[in-house]
Amino acid sequence: MMKRSTEVFLDGKRHILIADDEFVNREMLENILCDKYDVLKAEDGLIAYDLIRKNRKTLSLILLDLMMPNLSGLELLDRLKEDPDTKNIPVIVLTSDQASEVESLRKGAADFIPKPYPQPDVIKARISRSIELAEDRQTISATERDDLTGLYTCEYFYRYVEQFDKYHPSTEMDAVCFDVNHFHILNERFGTAKVAEILQSIADCLASVFSSSDGVLCRMGEDTFLCYCHHRDDYPKILEKISSGCGIKMRAGIYASCDKNLDIQSRFVRAKIAADKISNAYSVFTSTFDETLLKEELFAEQLLEEFPKALEEKQFQVFFQPKYDIRGDKPVLSSAEALVRWFHPTLGMISPGKFIPLFEGNGLIAQLDEYVWRRTAERIADWKERLGISVPVSVNLSRAEMYDSALVDTFEKITGDTGITPKDIYLEITESAYVSDSNQIVNRVSQLRDHGFFIEMDDFGSGYSSLNMISELPIDALKLDMLFIRNAFDKQNDTRMISIVIDIAEYLGVPVIAEGVETEEQYLALKKLGCAIIQGYYFSKPLPADEFEKLLRS
Ligand code: C2E
Ligand code: MG
Ligand code: MG
Repeated sequence: MMKRSTEVFLDGKRHILIADDEFVNREMLENILCDKYDVLKAEDGLIAYDLIRKNRKTLSLILLDLMMPNLSGLELLDRLKEDPDTKNIPVIVLTSDQASEVESLRKGAADFIPKPYPQPDVIKARISRSIELAEDRQTISATERDDLTGLYTCEYFYRYVEQFDKYHPSTEMDAVCFDVNHFHILNERFGTAKVAEILQSIADCLASVFSSSDGVLCRMGEDTFLCYCHHRDDYPKILEKISSGCGIKMRAGIYASCDKNLDIQSRFVRAKIAADKISNAYSVFTSTFDETLLKEELFAEQLLEEFPKALEEKQFQVFFQPKYDIRGDKPVLSSAEALVRWFHPTLGMISPGKFIPLFEGNGLIAQLDEYVWRRTAERIADWKERLGISVPVSVNLSRAEMYDSALVDTFEKITGDTGITPKDIYLEITESAYVSDSNQIVNRVSQLRDHGFFIEMDDFGSGYSSLNMISELPIDALKLDMLFIRNAFDKQNDTRMISIVIDIAEYLGVPVIAEGVETEEQYLALKKLGCAIIQGYYFSKPLPADEFEKLLRS
């Protein structure tokens, strides 16, 4: 699209070309125009054409004499109108011949000025009107429509919404953001040409749903469509229609009955947040915005931003929760689990449930975990040396870390640097890690075990491991998921599932660790069922290192 005078000379003088072979005419026109415009002059058609080509981006208007040597005015006009670069520059024809006036208008001239020339004021008025008309037309066509889909562009859309609100201040409206699910894969699968076709058909489909009286649409970025429409609640149906019509899945983030005190962009940011919230979901396609979503988003953003500084300033602390062996007469402290906490200078203590999942999605988890593993190893070494006590402590691993081919090296380095042995540090790997891509995980776990590390399968019962798979797993302990225990005791005291798991563990020849044990009743029941080790508030909450050390000493 043309970007011409409006942008370049918004607050400067417009440029005008005078093409006339008669010196006197050129001088006279220049005299009339030079205080308001920058004037270029040409004395024949060819020179004029040259100048126009060179200045095509900045010329606002051409005054064209029809009778000129080398290239006549009409021929020049033809050339200009054929060329997309010049066809939008308005041309005013200068002529004394009435027949030519009509012909030049037919060829696309904007206006004509008869010879002999009228009053200077008349000339000036006609020129400025032609320029204005041309510029208005260009700004609208340059900003109104998206090339690919024919929907409005974002910029125009926002202006439109603004106008709409002005005249309908109390109408209940929704701001909606439609996004293509897994769009980047679409390009890979189908190629850009086919994807362009798909985007067009989505636009058509949306346009058929939101007729001009129901709402207004635009495309933003590649695969995002925004819609401002009367409040409705049939979005799932609309998505079904797109899915069956275009063969792809979309999701909708809806900021329903939006607050009109918010500026328009902010309303659609909210719709977008709602849409992003379900970008990885496979069975949910609509999501409605509420203020907590925005707070979560801002909070997450803040944590991500502040992570590097927090790590550097040692705002992360490792807490230790004791595990007790309950097989004998009296429970014996046998090991512990290292759990990280973030002591934020203004937000206070943040629990790992808030930031671990976030960091897992952003690749920051590896840095944090290595820090936690190292701090933990240093503590273990310190207690060994100062207290002469050797308690193994388990650390948590995230799934992504299981794909790291340097993982074993990292642990060897940590144990080597701190002077502890692989038997001093246990590794907790969540059950769900085993389920996806189990071969690779199983190989990595075997590798760790070959190097002497003790592996606990964490959160067992929360994933969907098959019995078949479990029987082949290289593990040293099963850690029962907390919810699993909660369910068993909360409902009708049905502990049968727990005893099945204990049977499985027995078959595998590994002990069962129960976590989240909060009551004496649970403790006694688990003991009776044959559970080996217990971790939970019943014995102790996770403790700061110095408090855990007191426990060790006693
Ligand atoms: P997890 O590994 O399953 O850890 C057990 C969680 O249960 C801990 O929560 C612990 O404080 C809590 N808990 C222990 N006993 C009880 C109880 O009796 N009742 C209740 N209600 N809760 C109990 P926390 O510390 O908030 O950690 C949550 C999760 O965050 C952990 O679950 C683990 O998956 C992850 N996590 C914690 N620290 C790290 C870390 O350093 N690295 C990685 N990758 N993940 C970590
Ligand atoms: Mg754990
Ligand atoms: Mg656990």
